[in-house]
Amino acid sequence: MKLNGNFQNLEQSYLFVTIAQKVAAYTQEHPDNKIIKMGIGDVTMPLAPAVIQAMHDATEEQAHKETFHGYSPDSDGYPFLREAIAAYYKNFGVDMDASEVFVGDGAKSDVGNIVDLFDVDNTVLVPDPVYPVYVDTNILSGRKIEYVDANEANGFLPLPDPSRKADIIYLCSPNNPTGATYNKEQLKAWVDYALDQKAVILFDAAYEAFITDPSLPHSIFEIPGAEKCAIEFCSFSKTAGFTGMRCGYTVIRKELVIDGVQVSKLWQRRQGCKFNGTSYITQRAAAAVFTEEGQKQIRETIAYYQKNAQVMMDAFTKMGVWFTGGTNSPYIWLKCPGGMGSWEYFDYLLHNAEIVGTPGEGFGKNGEGYFRLTAFGDAQKTVEAMERIQKLQK
Ligand code: PLP
Repeated sequence: MKLNGNFQNLEQSYLFVTIAQKVAAYTQEHPDNKIIKMGIGDVTMPLAPAVIQAMHDATEEQAHKETFHGYSPDSDGYPFLREAIAAYYKNFGVDMDASEVFVGDGAKSDVGNIVDLFDVDNTVLVPDPVYPVYVDTNILSGRKIEYVDANEANGFLPLPDPSRKADIIYLCSPNNPTGATYNKEQLKAWVDYALDQKAVILFDAAYEAFITDPSLPHSIFEIPGAEKCAIEFCSFSKTAGFTGMRCGYTVIRKELVIDGVQVSKLWQRRQGCKFNGTSYITQRAAAAVFTEEGQKQIRETIAYYQKNAQVMMDAFTKMGVWFTGGTNSPYIWLKCPGGMGSWEYFDYLLHNAEIVGTPGEGFGKNGEGYFRLTAFGDAQKTVEAMERIQKLQK
């Protein structure tokens, strides 16, 4: 018996462990500290009342023989939710069938599990810096990864190089960690490249709800041709505060056919084999997000986070600090002032302003010298954090 040797090839994930250790050490030395945490990308506001009501109603249904739901008829999601998601895409001018939507327990699982569909010999193209799940899940299944540099010169929005070969391409827009967001022309360049290469784009739209610029695409399917070369992942986590609820969805259009095989059929088979569906109560809660009331309520919460992002952008603009994100994203990705390294800036902020952020190098080599702050915190604390940083800068 042999274990999966690819686990040996994973880099140890020191990032959040090291952050936690440094914060714990500081807290021990300074028990009366007033630390403000702006590091981890979790939401802090409660679920929308419409979502809570839907959960109560669904729970009540589970209490009675006549309305009880056991295993769902298939693992791909109840029609009421798949239809609501497909209808939501009409807002972006994308016309799709509910059968092209697959409900899961979050974007992380789907992004991680999709690699089951692909051969080990594919060339995987991943931007650097990047959400680490894209890298680790390919390493675990033995695929080699090639990196595309995202940096200040390209505004952390790299474009394809036609001379490079690719089979699987990861794109995340609005991006975690950089907050940078592709426009339609830039996404078209990637779609054209993928079609030319006969590659598949895995498009992570987990932060689409934070887009404010009406010209920017929320979905890769807004780009003609993407239906033939892309798979899209999205989530209720950041849109509706479902990080603890667990619900997301994957869209695979019927037109995505590789070697005569409809990829959506493979995904359906994969999910049917290893997944028994998202809980009925959670799916009812997710469907409530798309009601008129639900949309209004989640928009209020998103606006709360966006106001935090604005406070942060105003502060860094005033200080003359270079950054991306914020406008269409809950993340601010800033260049560490004074040429500091990202861990150096982490220690500096913790010890001098009692603010915790995330060092950019935790997301890849191009993150060195950059720092991620999130807008998911408390409004008052965000204002205070920016005041502390500005005072420090002086
Ligand atoms: N994709 C990106 C880019 C993320 O940043 C995250 C979470 O932070 C996820 C996916 C995971 O989302 P979920 O909570 O739906 O698993």
